Amino acid sequence: MKQIKDLVRQNIYNLKPYSCARDEFKGEASVFLDANENPLNNPYNRYPDPLQIELKKKIAQIKNVRPSQIMLGNGSDEPIDLIVRIFCEPKQDNIVAIAPTYGMYEVCANVNDVEYRKVLLNEDFSLNANLVLEAIDDCTKVVFLCSPNNPTGNLLNRNEMLKIINGFQGIVVIDEAYIDFASEPSWLNDLDNYPNLIVLQTFSKAWGLAAVRCGMAFASEEILSYFNKVKYPYNVNLLTQNFVEKELSYEERKKEWVKMLLDERDNLIQELKKLSIVKSVFPSDANFVLVKVTDAKFIYTALMNKGVIVRNRHSVQLCGNCLRITVGTQDENAVLIAELKKNEVL
Ligand SMILES: *Cc1c(COP(=O)(O)O)cnc(C)c1O
Repeated sequence: MKQIKDLVRQNIYNLKPYSCARDEFKGEASVFLDANENPLNNPYNRYPDPLQIELKKKIAQIKNVRPSQIMLGNGSDEPIDLIVRIFCEPKQDNIVAIAPTYGMYEVCANVNDVEYRKVLLNEDFSLNANLVLEAIDDCTKVVFLCSPNNPTGNLLNRNEMLKIINGFQGIVVIDEAYIDFASEPSWLNDLDNYPNLIVLQTFSKAWGLAAVRCGMAFASEEILSYFNKVKYPYNVNLLTQNFVEKELSYEERKKEWVKMLLDERDNLIQELKKLSIVKSVFPSDANFVLVKVTDAKFIYTALMNKGVIVRNRHSVQLCGNCLRITVGTQDENAVLIAELKKNEVL
């Protein structure tokens, strides 16, 4: 592969980062008169740690990586945007991604005026690495893969992904927002073997902290040095840092939630398959299922009128007449099934 410094945009390579008040000073001090803060109302009067060192130490233990391999963001949408801005020269470079997939990659590419190339998955939503490699040219800087994929719910095949990681000169991003629900291990274990790999995870799904806005990017120290240069200095506020740190001590509870949701997913799939309006339920390694129905728009609207909101994916490539349904509590899933039964034609 190419050297990371040859993949980074020239202006980012040359960038002298904003030096914030707490960057220069690392020792023990008792009088802080450097940042124009109000000295009262501790502790929220002070700017937070821009590198979130304490929180990263705890995440590193749980994820079995080094703290220096972690970047934290305002949701994982922040690192997605940073990746585009760090590596892709507007109007010149391009991004290759699978389709269908998570919509933010394309939005970030469009905002930054970077060409976005879609490579259609197979009919069963499996990945064909050769098609991705064929879409790549000299101006391709980043490939986005999402596994388990949203909105399809399936894991991408590991060997196909490896073909891309090994066959591409640029950055490969693997978005693992749903990895806690998956039956295969994370790519985090392979981070040290592939210097062009960025793995994204989030506290928004299995950890139940979507409102807190905390996402994780894992990559080599060299890649992350550019993230830290470009990100807003205080991108993760202290309320979030403290709250996530506390929640990390309830990892067992998270695992129980995942177990419960996987049981509920199995129940939901069984119940869905009994309905005549359901044509197929696609296999899922996530906390949602993609369901092909007889008439997605009609069923989506009928559910909405009863206050049950699902995601209509009918207009997405390969997802004609498909609804994406998140696994809820036992009660919520029962309400959904009861409402769907009312739409069964007799
Ligand atoms: C939900 C989701 C995310 C998470 O985004 P946050 O900004 O961390 O809440 C990332 N990627 C995918 C594919 C998702 O579905």
